[in-house]
Amino acid sequence: MRQQPFGKGGPQVSLIGQGTWYLDRADRSRAIAALQRGIDAGMTHIDTAEMYGDAELVIADAIAGKRDSLFLVSKVLPSNASRRGAITACERSLQRLKTDYLDCYLLHWRGSFPLEDTVDAFEELIAAGKIRSWGVSNFDTDDLNELLAVSGRGKIACNQVLYHLQERAIEHAVIPWCEKHGVAVVAYSPFGHDEFPSPRSRGGEVLQSIADNHKATPRQVTLSFLARAPSVFPIPKASSPEHAAENAGAGNLVLTASEIFTIDQAFPRGPKPRGLPML
Ligand code: NAP
Repeated sequence: MRQQPFGKGGPQVSLIGQGTWYLDRADRSRAIAALQRGIDAGMTHIDTAEMYGDAELVIADAIAGKRDSLFLVSKVLPSNASRRGAITACERSLQRLKTDYLDCYLLHWRGSFPLEDTVDAFEELIAAGKIRSWGVSNFDTDDLNELLAVSGRGKIACNQVLYHLQERAIEHAVIPWCEKHGVAVVAYSPFGHDEFPSPRSRGGEVLQSIADNHKATPRQVTLSFLARAPSVFPIPKASSPEHAAENAGAGNLVLTASEIFTIDQAFPRGPKPRGLPML
């Protein structure tokens, strides 16, 4: 599994990570086995959130004894992202995850608390050793500009945003903004949540024929395509060990320029939408 810097000057993080939304709805022992298979195959970036029900508890069981090799990320709900609320929310997540620090802590989406308050709370958590870095999720460029004015340069580790073959809006402005400012882009729902192109669609056929060139699978080709910019880290969620192993296989797959062009044509970027799409 390839690793790359998580933003400018950031730690090395696995190219492909593991999402955990709805993982608590799956069979618990299979979900744990899926996370562990993914970790063993190098997908050491694990993404969760206080919003994801009992996912943090499932992760705690999966990562016991392996914590130090991981890049563990959780998120605070906007309704908890006040100066004090973000700190207690983080402490609850640490307890549920049975760990004493997070590698990165994100504001899940922008809410009504002033960004200054959330940033102050994040900086206090860093000073206390409870988080190593912080970032945001679902921030468009205007939000990012405001955040940068509040935090100053070199503080925002990542922006986690929706990115899949049929939703490429972030390529217009969010990815360029993040690359300019040394901020990692974490691509959520890289398989469209549950809308992966069917094998019988034209796009599905394109993915299969490129997969055949590499003895790979359409989903591996998709993850490699999404991760073609060095700032982007896709985080597919899998609740079966077989799916996790397949997704990890994308971590060493490099597409040719002509394959990237073909996928680009089959799943066009489309015009820039007014607002940033999110799930
Ligand atoms: P996703 O990763 O695009 O797709 C998940 C679906 O793909 C599941 O049904 C999963 O099935 C299936 N799948 C995964 N690997 C597969 C494989 N190799 N073969 C066949 N099917 C496969 O959707 P997502 O969960 O929405 O997004 C990923 C993660 O991003 C989330 O889990 C969460 O951590 C994060 N996220 C963040 C936000 C945000 O606002 N920040 C929003 C949405 C998601 P199985 O479960 O059966 O394996």
